[in-house]
Amino acid sequence: MIDRPAVQDRDHKFLTRAVEEAYKGVECGDGGPFGAVVVQNDEIIMSCHNMVLKNTDPTAHAEVTAVREVRTSDFHFPLIYLLASVPCCVICAGVQIPLVIPAIYDAWII
Ligand SMILES: [Zn+2]
Repeated sequence: MIDRPAVQDRDHKFLTRAVEEAYKGVECGDGGPFGAVVVQNDEIIMSCHNMVLKNTDPTAHAEVTAVREVRTSDFHFPLIYLLASVPCCVICAGVQIPLVIPAIYDAWII
C-alpha cells in the first residue's frame, strides 16, 4: 500500500515543478502530460517527464524515468521522495518498492 501523507507547504514547490515537467513533456512531444521529481534532503535531484513516445517505451512513465536517471548517477538512496503531477499508476507504484521510497506524493492531493 502506498503511503499518502498530507502535503506540506514545502512540497508545493516540488509538485509545481512536477506539473511544469508535465507541460514540458507535452510541448516537446515526448509523451503524455505527466511529470515527476525526485527529492532528497529538501532538494530536487531529478525531474523528468513522460518519455513514452520519444523512447517508444510504454514503461517510460515520468516517475520511472526520473528514478532511472537518478540510478545512473547514484545507486544509494538514503531517503528520497517521488513527487508526480498525477496519482501514480501500478507501474510507478512498483518503482518505489525495491528502492524503499517512503512516499509518493502527487499533485491531486494539494
Ligand atoms: Zn505510471
